[in-house]
Amino acid sequence: MRIVIKIGTSTLAHSTGRLNIRRIEQLCKVMSDLKNSGHEIILVSSGAIGMGVGKLGLGGRPEDIASKQAAAAVGQCELMYVYDKLFAEYNHTVGQLLITGIDIENERHRKNFENTLYKLLELGALPIINENDTVSTDEIEIGDNDTLSAIIASSINAELLVLLSDINGLYNKNPKTHPDAEMIEVVRKITPDIVALSDGKGVLGTGGMATKIKAAELVTKSGCDMVIANGAYPKKLYDIVEGKPVGTRFIKENG
Ligand code: ADP
Repeated sequence: MRIVIKIGTSTLAHSTGRLNIRRIEQLCKVMSDLKNSGHEIILVSSGAIGMGVGKLGLGGRPEDIASKQAAAAVGQCELMYVYDKLFAEYNHTVGQLLITGIDIENERHRKNFENTLYKLLELGALPIINENDTVSTDEIEIGDNDTLSAIIASSINAELLVLLSDINGLYNKNPKTHPDAEMIEVVRKITPDIVALSDGKGVLGTGGMATKIKAAELVTKSGCDMVIANGAYPKKLYDIVEGKPVGTRFIKENG
C-alpha cells in the first residue's frame, strides 16, 4: 500500500517546544517496519519553525516573517538530521522535499516535484515533505500540512492518508471544550453535518478540524481512505494500515 503519513508539531514536540524523543523514535521505528513489510511510506512533517526556535534559543515563536523563516531554516536542518539518524538505524534512506504553493499551482513545477517523488519511491527511499517555510509567505503558501498531505496523497494515488494529531479522531463536538463529546469512527460521506463539525457553528468544532475535513474531501474523491488518529500512540499505525478501527476513518468514494 502507498501510505502518506502527516505528523504535526503537537505530535513531535513536548509542550515545552522541545523534541519528544521517545515519540519520534517510536514513530520512526513503526514506519520503518511498515516499509520493511512492503508498504511505501511518504512522510509529511511539520515542526521546522518550532525546532529552530528551540535551537536558536529564541524563547518563543517570533512574530516577524524574517525571524520565523530564519528559525525554519535552522529547524528544518535539525528535523532532517533527526529523521535521517533514526531511519538510518533501521537501514532506511530519507530524502527531503520542500515545496510551496507555487510548486503545486505551476504545472511544470508540479510535474518536476511529482517526478522526484516517484523516483525516490522507485529507489526505495522514504520521502519527507514539508512546506518550504524559509521562502513561503501568505501569498504563495499552501498554509498547512493537512492540505499539503492531501494534495500529495491524491496526486500520487496513495491508498491511505493518516493525519496524526493531538486528538483521537473527529468528535461530534470539540472534546477539549465538551467532555461529553463522542468520537465518530467512520465517515462514509462528507455531508454538510460533518463539515459543520469543523467550522465552529453553534457548539460544534472550532476549526482545528476544518483543514482535516477539507483534506478528507479531496482524498476520498481520488480513491484514498483517510484516518485521523492520535500521534501519541505510534503502534496504532499497524492497526490503521490493517484497516482496524482506530480514530476516525473517512472511506473513499465508492469504497
Ligand atoms: P494538529 O496540529 O495536530 O494538526 P489541530 O490543533 O489543528 O491539530 O486540530 C486538532 C484540534 O481540533 C483538537 O485538539 C481539538 O481541540 C480541535 N477540535 C475542534 N473541533 C473538533 C472536533 N469536532 N473533533 C475533534 N477535535 C476538534
